[in-house]
Amino acid sequence: MIAPDLETGVARLRDLIERATVVLPFTGAGISTECGIPDFCSPGGLWTKNRPIPFDEFLASQEMRDEAWRRRFAMEEQFAQAKPGRGHRALASLYRSGKAPAIVTQNIDNLHQASGIAPEHVIELHGNNSYALCLDCAARYELAWVKERFSSAGGRVPECPDCNGYIKTATVSFGQAMPERAMRRAEELTLDCDLFLAVGSSLVVWPAAGFPLMAKRNGARLVIINRETTEFDAIADLVVSDDIGTVLSPFIAH
Ligand SMILES: [Zn+2]
Repeated sequence: MIAPDLETGVARLRDLIERATVVLPFTGAGISTECGIPDFCSPGGLWTKNRPIPFDEFLASQEMRDEAWRRRFAMEEQFAQAKPGRGHRALASLYRSGKAPAIVTQNIDNLHQASGIAPEHVIELHGNNSYALCLDCAARYELAWVKERFSSAGGRVPECPDCNGYIKTATVSFGQAMPERAMRRAEELTLDCDLFLAVGSSLVVWPAAGFPLMAKRNGARLVIINRETTEFDAIADLVVSDDIGTVLSPFIAH
């Protein structure tokens, strides 16, 4: 059912949530656009100006690693100033109510954690942009630590002091393996829910796009809240094509 208008969509969503036992929110870039986080994949997004650096190129040259970090630091204020939006707050309310055990996200912006969801309950399919990891020993480094060394070395990113491995933001780049544990947990959660709530994702990036289908085949209801249409609209139990913050703000518990 495609909601004919916002009011009907919200009422039907409320009804589906009330009747569900376990809700699994699955979020994409659309939930964060009102927070000032750019939608990297959209036309006119950052990637049309700056081609993303594939993982093999990051590994292959110091120049590319430095460039990747230059770009990250250039966006620092934008990321640091971003606060959870209405969509994040509504999903955090659902989580606190006990209905949503966790959230699966394609986003790397850390805003679900900032909205009060425990880090172990935010399943990040594409990693996290707010800290860095050594690619060899997986030691964690904070961005401020990397930046200080980057600046004092004249724009050259440091290597891991423990093992000399390359240090990269904890995100999943093009060509980099999907995080196995996150993928496995996302799959378990998908199979455990009876309401799958796809929010702000165009549902085109595989393998992440497989989850709504998996939920539906497993007998769960599927709700899609997204500004643009998706290829799963036809099989969804409810589609609300409207602004995400507007659709979800009635679900923020005060
Ligand atoms: Zn290391």
